[in-house]
Amino acid sequence: MGVYVVTGAASGMGRAAVEQLRWEGHRAIGVDLHNADVIADLSTEDGRRHAIEEIYKSAGNRLDGAVLAAGLGPIPGREELVAKVNFLGVVELLEGIHDLLAAAGNAKVVIFSSNSTTTVPGIPKELIAAFKARDMDSVLAIGEAAGPDAFPNFMYAGSKIAITHWMRTIGVTEEWAGRGIRVNALAPGAVRTPLIDKQLADPELAKAIKSFPIPVREFGKPEEVAKWVIFMLSPAANFLCGSVIFLDGGTDAYFRADDWPQPLPADEMPRYIQKMQEFNAVKPE
Ligand code: NAD
Repeated sequence: MGVYVVTGAASGMGRAAVEQLRWEGHRAIGVDLHNADVIADLSTEDGRRHAIEEIYKSAGNRLDGAVLAAGLGPIPGREELVAKVNFLGVVELLEGIHDLLAAAGNAKVVIFSSNSTTTVPGIPKELIAAFKARDMDSVLAIGEAAGPDAFPNFMYAGSKIAITHWMRTIGVTEEWAGRGIRVNALAPGAVRTPLIDKQLADPELAKAIKSFPIPVREFGKPEEVAKWVIFMLSPAANFLCGSVIFLDGGTDAYFRADDWPQPLPADEMPRYIQKMQEFNAVKPE
């Protein structure tokens, strides 16, 4: 049986993942602000450092996987926290526990993205670039300049797009995939957790959520999402790497049926050949 770390373990999908892991006989180290094995604030550098130290103490010599579920929704007034928890709370925590994951030889990582990555129009590319550069002053300046109505969604959708790009970038490198670590993302749509309940309690946000198209006509359930997490941590997911799994009742497909996959333009060929050469130059025999 494996040893796994789960952030956001006190509530919603993180909690459901912890319960499912334990039910299946694994050891789960929960991280959260409260009601968890490791109490840490992932929005701060000190909090992340503390979480990493405690995970090293508790895990022993290896970690079989990590589930990064700690996150905040687009609640007005909490924009800075949203940006820091959703982006730095994933990237810097994972970088801090990389060696424990590599020690397992075949570790799995599930990052919680969101279908806001593809369903919120107007997120500027420079915002994503600022996230990826970890330049939080610029992230907040770009968000604030968008005005109070757009700011929360810029931080939420922006952080989730950036984390997904980061996942796909590092996930296929020698340092991660090459060391046996399979990094993937789950992109849920509206799942009935305290995060969504808080948004439903706000009349404006509730209107937006209720009018959002979900072709299967129901919200997701945390315990169902937890089963996907377990699957993505299992040996059945050995060939899953750098993928984004949309678990959203059809919303993404509804808005973007023809957007992807796209035929590859012929002028992309030189770039592909170059990437192939780069890959083979570093691949061990
Ligand atoms: P939730 O609010 O039920 O749980 C999130 C957990 O994160 C809470 O226990 C909270 O204490 C923890 N957390 C928040 N800030 C933290 C901090 N600074 N340090 C440590 N822990 C912190 O949320 P959920 O709905 O289960 O969401 C889980 C993940 O899925 C989040 O990343 C969220 O953005 C994402 N997501 C949720 C939905 C949805 O509809 N619920 C949809 C798409 C994506």
